[in-house]
Amino acid sequence: MPDKIQPRILVVDPSASNRALICDCLRQLPHVRTIATGDSEHALQIFQEIRPSLVLLDTTLHGTDGIALTRKIRAWEQSRNEAGISPWTPIVFLSSVSDENTLTQGIQAGGDDFLCKPVSEVVLLAKTQAMLRISTRQQEICEVHRQLKEIASLDSLTGIPNRRHFEDTLSIEWKRCLRNDTPLSIVISDVDYFKQFNDIYGHQAGDVCLKAVAGSLSESLFRVEDSVARYGGEEFVAILPGTDASGAYAVAERMRLSAHELGIPHERGIDGRISCSFGVASTRPSADKMPQQLLRTADIGLYAAKSAGRNRVELNKE
Ligand code: GH3
Ligand code: MG
Ligand code: MG
Repeated sequence: MPDKIQPRILVVDPSASNRALICDCLRQLPHVRTIATGDSEHALQIFQEIRPSLVLLDTTLHGTDGIALTRKIRAWEQSRNEAGISPWTPIVFLSSVSDENTLTQGIQAGGDDFLCKPVSEVVLLAKTQAMLRISTRQQEICEVHRQLKEIASLDSLTGIPNRRHFEDTLSIEWKRCLRNDTPLSIVISDVDYFKQFNDIYGHQAGDVCLKAVAGSLSESLFRVEDSVARYGGEEFVAILPGTDASGAYAVAERMRLSAHELGIPHERGIDGRISCSFGVASTRPSADKMPQQLLRTADIGLYAAKSAGRNRVELNKE
């Protein structure tokens, strides 16, 4: 994100004296920092590194012209659009050419305004302030959007990813493992005798217990690409990309021990404590398979773990 307190303005102009004039003028604005270059490749590099709040750009640059540079900046911004909302840094052309055709091309390439040189200091400062205002509002919108997206992907009770996030992640990891020809494993877990826990200790104690279980399951995953989500109710699901069946079994066993070792008293539970049962499934994704099948296979494993006495891990081989 560009610096909120100190807006950075990238000035791109082939003439060193013009750059100095423009920067001197801009420094009259409070907190503004300027970075100037005459080379368009260098300008793109600076843009990517510092993410300026505003670009002031001459249309007749050496090498590639300002309009081509604008297209590259917009393409780069678009490629970074992972959060679902595109950043848009205002670009203002400063041009000694004043024909309408150049203006149209500049705006179509992604420019936001067009000023004809020589530009008076008053106009340059006023336009810059207007553009910085837009830039600041845009940063705020992007930040709120990021926060909302984060909230929408988390389970409000336990703070771990929710089912929606799990489904998105499964789809992404499935494709990644398909491309890399690596295995993908799933671990589904379910708290044992949890209805009775609620009946005995109350729903609030049940909530506290679910939070603790979610924490213990999360902490049992050591690889950054592994994740666990709340699937619903007292069920959790972990995605283990690049992990084969025996590896996933070992992880599930670690999760099982971790939940049981929380030592949450449950008079009807296994050994008088809260425990979970686990179903594990593993596959090598291929074009003729679907991720939902992997979930069903893990679910059958979970059912087998319940039937076999609970507080255990069952690996369901396809
Ligand atoms: P099993 O060992 O076969 O899994 O039995 P169980 O009692 O755990 O399974 P069952 O499906 O009968 O009950 C699940 C219980 O989980 C019932 C429901 O009230 C409780 N539950 C689901 N979500 C929440 C929640 O957010 N908070 C609390 N406190 N309880 C929840
Ligand atoms: Mg259940
Ligand atoms: Mg249960």
